[in-house]
Amino acid sequence: MPLAQPPDNATAEQIAKTEMVRQKMLRLARDRYLFRFQDRRLTTGLVVEHGRVVGLKVAETKIEGRKAEPMPGSEYELRAPLVISSIGSVPEFLPGIAMKGEYYTFTDEDLPRYSGADRVFGVGNVVTGQGNIRVSLVHSQKVTKQLIDEYLRAENRGAAESVSFASAKARAAGQAQALDQAIESLPSLSTEQVAAIERRIHARQEQVGYTSDYDSWIAKVTPPDLE
Ligand SMILES: Cc1cc2nc3c(=O)[nH]c(=O)nc-3n(C[C@H](O)[C@H](O)[C@H](O)COP(=O)(O)OP(=O)(O)OC[C@H]3O[C@@H](n4cnc5c(N)ncnc54)[C@H](O)[C@@H]3O)c2cc1C
Repeated sequence: MPLAQPPDNATAEQIAKTEMVRQKMLRLARDRYLFRFQDRRLTTGLVVEHGRVVGLKVAETKIEGRKAEPMPGSEYELRAPLVISSIGSVPEFLPGIAMKGEYYTFTDEDLPRYSGADRVFGVGNVVTGQGNIRVSLVHSQKVTKQLIDEYLRAENRGAAESVSFASAKARAAGQAQALDQAIESLPSLSTEQVAAIERRIHARQEQVGYTSDYDSWIAKVTPPDLE
């Protein structure tokens, strides 16, 4: 996880400052917890002996933008008596949903439209791939704002413009109404499509033991040691 993020449209100076903050945090953690650190490494496999994991096969990586590619010929074995894997999250494979590698096929990061449907958008981790609450929050706010603006611009230009000289409150109310109309005018799903979605919901609920209401289900599945 990146320990510090530069602001949007950061200057070279701000990027350099963020890198210094990251190095300082890493140095403090290393001094305190006495560990070593190797950067730009990718795990390519396990080293297994007598049925037990005794290390990892790792390769050095070349970074280009957000892509990290293993460098041919740089692989080596990193032996260790204990291997602890980190926990992350990747999008789940869903039947019928197109994927590119581990990711769903969103068009771009600023207004991430799913390639298979005009009105399906993604926000947060599933698009940015960055495991960080703040990055996900800021991304979702930015996308949602842009999405609302786009709907207003494309579908209700007249309505939005007619309130442009009104007070801020009236303008916001006008925009909300325009958005409401834009959503209302979208084509509805057919009865069969709604029924198919409901069948999927019920199948999923049965799979996880959700048989009555949320309160009783969450009480049933909450681990006894949850803090
Ligand atoms: C162990 C762990 C520790 C972490 N610690 C930190 C930390 O200290 N600080 C920090 O900033 N970040 C931390 N993170 C990362 C942070 O949790 C995520 O970056 C952040 O929660 C992403 O927010 P999100 O809204 O994009 O996605 P999520 O919070 O993952 O929300 C996605 C939601 O969609 C739901 N969902 C998924 N598939 C479906 C489906 N098919 N149908 C319906 N619902 C679905 C999921 O159940 C989930 O509720 C940690 C992550 C992990 C795993």
